[in-house]
Amino acid sequence: MGNNYTSGMSGNHRDLATRREARMSNSTGPLPAASTAARSYPGSFDFENMLVSLRELFALDRQKASQSDSSRCGICYLHFLFSELHYRDEEGFYVCYNCERALGKQTVPMLRRQQK
Ligand SMILES: [Zn+2]
Repeated sequence: MGNNYTSGMSGNHRDLATRREARMSNSTGPLPAASTAARSYPGSFDFENMLVSLRELFALDRQKASQSDSSRCGICYLHFLFSELHYRDEEGFYVCYNCERALGKQTVPMLRRQQK
């Protein structure tokens, strides 16, 4: 749209750009909304850092998984020692302390029950 305005008159050009921007931010379509959400992250979001911490997490997870007295949390799927897990009898899966706290009294129906 409006390509015939972009050459020549610089005033009009700037006008057009502002108008286009306004239209984009007014739109309630799914794409602009998503990009707004991404931009609302604090500027300090560090992908590199996230990768490093994930790598550490997985290394720790493998280490725990190799121990015989460990099992997976049914929610976050990370490995924990049995002493760090709580077995939820009603639903039939282990849950770690963090997930248990997040869940609270909520019941989570599981497709497959874990072995106790
Ligand atoms: Zn968990």
